[in-house]
Amino acid sequence: MGRIGIYPGSFDPLTEGHRDIVLRSLRFFDTVVVAILKNPDKRAMFSVRERAALIAETFADEPRIQVDHFGGLLVDYVRQRKADAVIRGLRAVQDFEYEFQMTMMNRRLAPDVDTVFMMTDEEYFYIASRTVKEVARLGGTIDGLVPDNIKAAMFVKLGREGELA
Ligand code: ADP
Repeated sequence: MGRIGIYPGSFDPLTEGHRDIVLRSLRFFDTVVVAILKNPDKRAMFSVRERAALIAETFADEPRIQVDHFGGLLVDYVRQRKADAVIRGLRAVQDFEYEFQMTMMNRRLAPDVDTVFMMTDEEYFYIASRTVKEVARLGGTIDGLVPDNIKAAMFVKLGREGELA
C-alpha cells in the first residue's frame, strides 16, 4: 500500500478547499484516506453515509484516494489503519491555535503518530463547510466553492434542485 496519509474531518460537506488538500497530499502519500469523523451532530446537512458516498463520487477517477469513517480517538484509528501520518489543512491564523492544540494532544497520546499540515491554494483558503452551507441555505451561489456533485446534492437537500442546469 506504500505510504498512507489519513485526512480526518467532518466534511459536511467536502469543499474545494478539502479537495485541494487531498490532491496536493497525493504527491507525498501513495494512498490518502479521507476519514469522516462520526460525530452525532443534529445540525449536520448530510449523514456520514451520504458524505462518504459523495466524497467517493468526487474522487471516483483516483484509485489512490479512499473514503472511510471512524469514531473514537483519531490516534487509535491511525494505528489501526497502519497509516504513516495525519494530514490537516491550514487556512488562516485562526486555524493554527486549534490545530496546534489538537496535534500536541495527539502526540501526547501517541508519540509515534505525526501530523503534516498542508496549505490550500489562495483561491480556497477562506472556504469553510459551515459558511458554504449558510450561503446555500440563504439562496446564494456556491459555484466554485464545492465540487459539482456536492453542489447538486446540497441543492436537492435544500429544495433548490430547480436551479440545477
Ligand atoms: P473539522 O470538523 O475538524 O473542522 P473539517 O471537515 O472542517 O474538520 O476540515 C478538515 C480539515 O480540513 C481541517 O484540518 C481543516 O482545517 C481543513 N480545511 C477545511 N477547509 C479548508 C480550506 N478551505 N483550506 C484548507 N484547509 C481546510
